[in-house]
Amino acid sequence: CFNILISSCNNSVSSLNLIYWYNTLYKQCVNNRYIVDLLNIEKNLTFISSLSSLITCLIISDWIGIFCTNKFKSVKKIIIAIDGLSSTGKSTLAKRLAKHLNYTYVDSGAMYRAVALYVLEKKLINGGELNTPKMIIELPNISIAFEHNMDINSFDVYLNDVKVSKAIRSMEVSNAVSIVAAIPQVRQQLVRLQQQMGAQKGIVMDGRDIGTVVFPNAELKLFMTASANIRAKRRYDELSTNSSSPSLQEVLDNINLRDELDSTRKDSPLLKSNDAIEFDNSQLSQEQQFEKIMELVNSCLQL
Ligand code: C5P
Repeated sequence: CFNILISSCNNSVSSLNLIYWYNTLYKQCVNNRYIVDLLNIEKNLTFISSLSSLITCLIISDWIGIFCTNKFKSVKKIIIAIDGLSSTGKSTLAKRLAKHLNYTYVDSGAMYRAVALYVLEKKLINGGELNTPKMIIELPNISIAFEHNMDINSFDVYLNDVKVSKAIRSMEVSNAVSIVAAIPQVRQQLVRLQQQMGAQKGIVMDGRDIGTVVFPNAELKLFMTASANIRAKRRYDELSTNSSSPSLQEVLDNINLRDELDSTRKDSPLLKSNDAIEFDNSQLSQEQQFEKIMELVNSCLQL
């Protein structure tokens, strides 16, 4: 009876319990001769009650085992890489996915923006011309950190321990960032950091080279597009809460300039990876996008 139970038991929690109970009961059987002492009703009753406790334990531990196995399956973690043109709503979508899945969200663009801000502060860029040798010397002096901010359900960005979450969104930084991001030494450092952040999986990262360079083996790769006018209008609406907000034309020009520079640079240009799913969200609400992408995420999680 015990052997049948052992062989029918196929999860580790049950097996361990079973071996423990089997050993305990077997020893009692041998020592007290329960099996041969059939006439001793009192001892047999004790044996029967022990046996029923054993079976109850087996059933419960089997349930626990099955529950743990199922739980384990549902916590499979993947990497979601979201690339695409400027202002396609990558960050909004990525943040929402990360919150829903309880994943880490990383805005890789914020890292490049923080480096660009540093470069501007050190006056290493003048009239669109970057002093590349000086910037490379300065790279070890740049530290970037993210800190979760519960109030805005997002991350604050710190550049050398100073909060720069707002400063990195200025037009000045937007105009300089693609020039700085084209420098291979900058990319090497930031890509290494990004890869470390995703080492445990369970991450949603958005940027320009996430599916192609940072996480070429990401389980889900998305490539977001939308018409330039729609993107500019969305970005303009976002920025116009600010008193010193740029005009719609300025925003459109910046988007076009960045797309051009990001797509034509030599190191890690903005490209759609062959295995990425292209997603034009020009006509989709944030809700519709989220639902569609969640279908893709769920099918990845079930694989
Ligand atoms: O995502 P966001 O628009 O804030 O990115 C700002 C800039 O940072 C991009 O236009 C691009 O030049 C650079 N970037 C990059 N690679 C990434 C993320 C951003 O080159 N993975």
